[in-house]
Formats: sequence, structure tokens, C-alpha cells
Amino acid sequence: MRVVPRFPGARKPKAVKRLPAAAGRTLTGAEHNPLAHGMNLKNTIQTSGQLHQRLGLSCERLDEVLEAYPMRIPPHVEARIQAEGGKGPVSRQYLPTPMELDDAVGLTDPLAERELEIVPNLIKKYPDRVLLLLTNQCAAYCRFCTRKRRVGQPMPAPAGWLETALDAIASMPQVRDVLLSGGDPLLLSDRKLAAVLDRLSEIRQVEIVRIGTRIPMVMPERITDALVGLLKRFQPLYLMVHVNHPDELDPGVREACSMLADAGVPLLAQTVLLRNVNDSTEVLQELFRELLRLRIRPYQLMQGDLTAGTDHFRTDLASGLEIMAELQGHTSGLAIPAFVLDLPGGGGKVQLSPTVIVEETSAQTTFRNYLGQLFSYPNSRRNVSSSRACHSRPGLVTDVLKSEFSPGIQVLATSSGTLNHPSRRC
Ligand code: SF4
Repeated sequence: MRVVPRFPGARKPKAVKRLPAAAGRTLTGAEHNPLAHGMNLKNTIQTSGQLHQRLGLSCERLDEVLEAYPMRIPPHVEARIQAEGGKGPVSRQYLPTPMELDDAVGLTDPLAERELEIVPNLIKKYPDRVLLLLTNQCAAYCRFCTRKRRVGQPMPAPAGWLETALDAIASMPQVRDVLLSGGDPLLLSDRKLAAVLDRLSEIRQVEIVRIGTRIPMVMPERITDALVGLLKRFQPLYLMVHVNHPDELDPGVREACSMLADAGVPLLAQTVLLRNVNDSTEVLQELFRELLRLRIRPYQLMQGDLTAGTDHFRTDLASGLEIMAELQGHTSGLAIPAFVLDLPGGGGKVQLSPTVIVEETSAQTTFRNYLGQLFSYPNSRRNVSSSRACHSRPGLVTDVLKSEFSPGIQVLATSSGTLNHPSRRC
């Protein structure tokens, strides 16, 4: 995205007033709209003309991009983009680019959600949990969204679909965890959201509800006293907040998060690893530490999905693993989320970890710590009779030993100074 004077003599973009954190808290009439805060959505940037007029921005083939993937930038994000001059890490998450049209590897439905949909908008991938997509609307459309095929489009559902989905959940005794997502469920009016939560609370086997949302970051004024009270009423309910960069944590966002934390709503953060946005150890370390200060536990760092139109955001797996390795030991474990990949084709999430086991034998396992030093841990003698414990796996990572450690760091010692335990063998 570049800042343009698209037309000769184009006007300077108007200064955008940052919304105070409390703005919108007294909105009335939300109960009568399927979506809350309809007026705020009307004030969002959705067309190439609005983008140019309000932010002085455009890009090549902009209308073509918007035809394929809609844009929505709410006032809170608009102010951030303005402050960045359209070139910073927040801007890159929301401004369209022609690169979205030139993605040769992405898939429309990378997680095979259409195949896993058991009734309209209800997806079941794991034994004990389901994903219920409540809306296709978001306060802001992230350009890297996994559900680019859906967001901003009408809900592909017959009348009565929500009742059908809730009945389906009630009919599955093994489902104990329901994730509400979309789109952004917190765009629903309080009344509609309460109706869904009410119904879920009546289903005996449903133990917890999670809501995936970007609202606290992009429309913090939606976090009203009424909404907080509602979320508090339906505990245990976890709010999975999507946040990618420390620059998103401005005063309005912090206040919204504090309101939620003060009310005792458990807050977990999900972060997508994005090229040229947050793919550095320093940025992520700052983000995760700040989140903890806001009482939000960093939960998952997600490798980008293979979504059509997002390849320019994707990093390689090695970069993510390297970042994870650099975070380990240098910051509290509380500030280190799990690094996960949602396997294409509906395979589910797998957790990726930097290699810490460098050798495993029948007698002991050798680890590399965050400083690159080696330490051994003797296997339990109780496992002597176990055939599994007696399988030595020599050569597992001997090349790592040769190549990755600094010369001189060949310390095979535990912190207590004990060297290998040759006596403990199978
Ligand atoms: S808020 Fe979530 S669902 Fe909506 S566009 Fe962003 S990532 Fe996608």
C-alpha cells in the first residue's frame, strides 16, 4: 500500500479523531438490530473512494481487490492507520493490496471447514468441541483472515439455521466446549448474544464457551458495561482475543481489556504470525509481555493458514520456530504461547516446538537449554522392564550437536553438577 495523491490536487486526508474509549457505551437501540452498533459500522471505510477521501490512500487494482475481498476499517483502526501514515504494522493488517489477487498457492477453504460442517455454520473437527460461526460480519476485515471466503458476505444459511445448530449441539453428549466465532460474535447485539449463551447454558454437557473476537482491538467502544455484565453472567466463558502487534494496544484498547479483566472474564490471546507485521522476536516479546500486564494470557501463536489471498503474509515454519527458541528462557513461560499450525485439509492443530532433545538413549535424554548448553536427564529405573524405555535412539540429532552448538559449550552436566549417569541403564 502506498500513500498517494491518487488524483492530481487530491485533498489532504482529513484528520481523524480518535474515539475516546468510552464512546458508544450509551448507544441505544442495539437490541433492535441483528448487529450491535450499526451506526459505528456505517462510519467505517468500505470503498476505494472512502479510503482515498479519509486516509488519502489507494493502491493498484484496488476496486478489483475489494470486489474479491471486502474492506472494512472502523474509526478506531482508521485513527491508527492515520498515525502510521498507512505504512505501519497495523496498516498492513487492514489495507488491501494487489498481492491478494496474485496468490498462486492459497486455497479458498484451507481448513476444509465446508467438509466438516455438520449443519449450516456448525463445524466439528475434534471429539469434544465444536465451532459455531454466528455471523460473517466483522468490525474490521483483516486482510490475512482464514475465512476470507466468508467474511463480509451474507450468511450462507437457511432460515432457522441457528436453532438447528444449537439443537445439533444439544444432541451431541460428547461436546463439552463450544467456540463461538465468525466473523466476530461480539458484533451481535447484546440481546442476540445473550439468547445464544442462554441456550448453550441450558445444554447440560456444555462445560465451557469460548468467544473468538477482535473487537477489543478494533472497536473497543463495543466493550460496554452491559456487554461485560453479560459475559460475566455466563461464566465459565473465555474470551479469545485476537491481537498481533503491540501497537494495537492503545489506551482505548487497554481500557476495554481492563473492564473485561476487572469483571473476571478470562482473557486469552491468539496471535497470527505475519510477515512484515510481527515476525520478529523483539516485537512478539514486547506484545506478549504487554498482554500479561493487561491480564491477557498469550495462548497461541498461529502459523498462517494456506488461505487464498494471504500468501504475502505467510512466513516459513523455520522462522516461527526460531522465534520460539529465542523467546524460551528469556521471558517468563507465562508470556510464551504455544506455536501452532492448523493443518490444511482439516487435520486439526498441531503444536510446533523448537528441538530441545538432542540425544535420547536407553539411559538418558540429553537436552539443549536456552543458552545452547547441554544437560542430561537420566531415565527412570522403573522403566527397566518396559521395552519402550529400552529403545535407544542413537543418532537422533547428532548433526545438531555438531552444527548448532558453539564450540566450547559441550557441557554435559546438570545444574547440580552431576555428569552422565552411566550406572543407570536398561
Ligand atoms: S476479525 Fe477475525 S474473522 Fe474477522 S476478518 Fe479479522 S481474522 Fe477474520
